Amino acid sequence: MAEEQQTDVLVIGGGMAGLMAAGALRGRGLRVTLADKGVRVGGRLATRRIGPGRGDHGAQFFTARSAEFQTLVAGWLAEGVIIPWANGFGDGSSDAMPTNGHPRYVVRGGMNALAQHLVQQLMPEVTVETSLRLAALSPEGVGWRAQADSGRLFACRAVVLTPPVPRALDLLDLDVFTEADRAALRRIEYAPCLAGLFWVDGEVDLPEPGAIQRPDEWISWVADNRRKGISPEATVITVHTGPQSSRDLWETTERDALAALRAAVEPFLAPGAVIREAQLKAWRYALPTVLHPEPYLPAAGLPPLVFAGDAFGGPRVEGAALSGLEAGRALAAILGV
Ligand SMILES: Cc1cc2nc3c(=O)[nH]c(=O)nc-3n(C[C@H](O)[C@H](O)[C@H](O)COP(=O)(O)OP(=O)(O)OC[C@H]3O[C@@H](n4cnc5c(N)ncnc54)[C@H](O)[C@@H]3O)c2cc1C
Repeated sequence: MAEEQQTDVLVIGGGMAGLMAAGALRGRGLRVTLADKGVRVGGRLATRRIGPGRGDHGAQFFTARSAEFQTLVAGWLAEGVIIPWANGFGDGSSDAMPTNGHPRYVVRGGMNALAQHLVQQLMPEVTVETSLRLAALSPEGVGWRAQADSGRLFACRAVVLTPPVPRALDLLDLDVFTEADRAALRRIEYAPCLAGLFWVDGEVDLPEPGAIQRPDEWISWVADNRRKGISPEATVITVHTGPQSSRDLWETTERDALAALRAAVEPFLAPGAVIREAQLKAWRYALPTVLHPEPYLPAAGLPPLVFAGDAFGGPRVEGAALSGLEAGRALAAILGV
């Protein structure tokens, strides 16, 4: 039988929400463990190498609309972790670049580099475990018992759950929740999105600032990661499917989906430009479409367990960050620290 690892708080998921929750719990005399199934933390803050370059295939940029997130962003700007990219994107029908007053920030080296920056600040005080997928979570006495798919066991006083909600609920027996919590969690919905990354040898014709956004169309986003500043070595194009095409293409083979995305990129290639490599990422839970009305959900009638993530704080990087922060603080209050 595997030995149980003791910790005070287990934060499941090392995306923006989990990283922020762990940060809010740090420095309070608690043993905090953050576990993520990925090889690296970041979740939908995702960047991949392709050919000699790299591209973001999850979140593309972020805005800062709340005073709290603006303070964090000011710190990351001062540290040189992030850079402003643009104040808006056109739909490609003209070269004019619309501005709506919200600066869009990108991360030096790609969006995942922000997660790496945040996790460095957590360690060594917070124990960070990657490539660790939690498979089951059950209340035990005044706390929780968690089991990883590798068989590793954790005993803890409290849990923060930040995977997309359907994934988080896979870990639990739904009967442990009150009827109200079960209904609230089941109400949350997400839309999928397919992301294509294309390494292009040659020029790509996209208007300033090197991206177009058409939220409701077949292709909702096309961006040049070189012009964004994260792929100086090579032109790497990111393409995202829109709401309808995400659903239409979800059941097709990877080959067909990639061919459809490739056909969407080709009109932007300058004469002589060639696609050298293509990669696909299918995000099953890309963006929440039906959200919980509060920034986190503390489960009632159970040992301390708080749900957090973009389905609670808002469907973007900022929403996930604020949800994680508030969930971490709420849990600290529940634990009396
Ligand atoms: C294609 C796409 C484009 C987007 N574009 C933008 C954008 O331009 N701007 C913007 O602001 N937002 C954008 N978003 C949304 C943004 O990425 C998310 O709102 C935010 O990153 C969510 O963070 P999170 O921590 O809530 O969830 P996630 O980032 O999903 O983190 C959850 C973490 O849980 C881990 N996990 C899951 N199950 C387990 C388990 N069983 N055990 C251990 N770990 C587990 C996962 O590996 C993951 O790291 C986009 C998202 C996608 C997919």
